[in-house]
Amino acid sequence: MASDNGKRRGFSRRRFIQGAAAAAASGSILKSTAREEEHGEEKHGRRRPPNDAPDTVLINGKIHTMDDENTVVSSVSITDGRFAEVGHASRGRHGPDTKVIDLRGRTVVPGIIDNHNHIVLMGNRPGFHTPLENAYSIADVQAIYAARAAGIPRDAWITTIGGFHSNHFAEVRLPTLAELDAAAPNNPVFIEIGFTGPATTNRAGKSIFESQGITVAENGSMTGNNPSRALLYLRQTLLNPESRRRAVVDAMNYAVTVGVTTHLDQGAFQASNTAADGSAHEDNFTMHIPFLEVYGQSKGIVRLRINFLHMDTASDTPELVQRLKNAFPFLGNDMVKTGAIGEFIATYPPATNFVAAAKRVAAANWRAEVHSLGRRNTPMSNAADFETEILAFEAVEADPALKGVIRDRRWVIAHVPGITQEWIDRLQAIGGNLSLTGWQYLAGNPTASTVAPYAGPPFRMIVDSSKRPDGIHAGMSSDGMQIAPMNPWIHMYYATTGINARGVTINPNQQITRQEVLSLYTRQNGWFLREEDQLGTIESGKLADLVVLNSDYFAVPDEDLKKIRSVLTVVGGNVVYDGGVLDLRG
Ligand SMILES: [Zn+2]
Repeated sequence: MASDNGKRRGFSRRRFIQGAAAAAASGSILKSTAREEEHGEEKHGRRRPPNDAPDTVLINGKIHTMDDENTVVSSVSITDGRFAEVGHASRGRHGPDTKVIDLRGRTVVPGIIDNHNHIVLMGNRPGFHTPLENAYSIADVQAIYAARAAGIPRDAWITTIGGFHSNHFAEVRLPTLAELDAAAPNNPVFIEIGFTGPATTNRAGKSIFESQGITVAENGSMTGNNPSRALLYLRQTLLNPESRRRAVVDAMNYAVTVGVTTHLDQGAFQASNTAADGSAHEDNFTMHIPFLEVYGQSKGIVRLRINFLHMDTASDTPELVQRLKNAFPFLGNDMVKTGAIGEFIATYPPATNFVAAAKRVAAANWRAEVHSLGRRNTPMSNAADFETEILAFEAVEADPALKGVIRDRRWVIAHVPGITQEWIDRLQAIGGNLSLTGWQYLAGNPTASTVAPYAGPPFRMIVDSSKRPDGIHAGMSSDGMQIAPMNPWIHMYYATTGINARGVTINPNQQITRQEVLSLYTRQNGWFLREEDQLGTIESGKLADLVVLNSDYFAVPDEDLKKIRSVLTVVGGNVVYDGGVLDLRG
């Protein structure tokens, strides 16, 4: 059995090496032609004629390819779901069936890749979950809710479960019962901040919750454990296979409006199905089913990479051991595939648990992705968690049998608001990498735990470190959809200004440029997925994911970065969102 497997692996690997060598030997145009032919053969059972016209040509744009030289072009063609000619064609080579889209000067970027979020949780929300991350006032909330109510059945629940904060609203408070009644009088509503509230509801919601013994104040506000009890009730009464599939489609439909075409999901806290659960809890063993069903029906419109979160408390990590025995990393297709163990591999302290788990992950040749929220010498209980993690990774690297796995599989520590240069250098030395998350953006007035050096991450320090020879790899993430927004343009605002949702500069001297943060969100994140030859830039032969923007990202004032949206999102050559601005009849 073992030798048979070995032979098969050797065969496919030799084929792969031959293919790679042939591609390397040819120019980029030849490479893309070869790839199209191979793809065409698979699809049509015949070789495509060499002069076959592209499916789509986009012209007259400001197309930021995010390639090695940050090349900007005006046209790009798409054939069989991949970019073909990238350049400056006035009309582009095309045939009778080619769709020509005139961008009329609009800015185009590669499809945004979010290398750490929780879209699987968002796709399992009870009720008609309605993102509020782009609301800046109670009036905005009312308009968003009124529009949602108009598109769903009377009496259906409208919910917003995490992903925003009232710090984003001019009024710096949640809407009241009366304000929600004015927006959605015929639908019960439930709006919750973060993992466990506070929350608010309207009159219809209040009467239903009170019938369940859940306490709601006269003005609709819900505090203590009442939000979690309400969420448990909504889960138990509203979630079923069909409603979950609908929520998956809703989550994907939202993602493409803000241009996020690829999501690396980082799992959930394992649900207990009691009121101890919050918005970040789900069943880690069943929550992917509705996503896989949607992909199975060919209705998946964004790319999903699935990490498996493990929080064993026992030193022998029994669940992690079973996962490593019975699952495979990086297995699937271009639309949906497995990823790593993360964003937890085990609970700690004791650190010995974490070291043991890291060694098991390495021994199975998986990637580990973990997170850090702490810094040294703070009252936070998780202070200096990155030190514990990097020390454990160093122990993995020091084991002769495991040496090199971290670099080869591209292990990651995410968030890192408090990491220091010393520890960046130590992680770089063993081949580890950093995912940067501006989750402190939604924090309110500065407190000891939300200003520099804790506000972080130290974007400038890390990006500078990444530009050194053999520098550390860094990518960008949202950590949406509970404590932070998915909307990448909000995170780009924070990374480039250091200013939080209340307008307070909390991360001074760590700002990076718009080019740098867009690179982290596209090109660099392609590397983090281990798919840098497929995703992250607009280059011939890569998967055709792009976003046409409503304004020029590189030219708008800082505050307007938050208002950037897609007017056209393309995934694999297919239009998955059309904002109605461009003429697509061409
Ligand atoms: Zn996370």
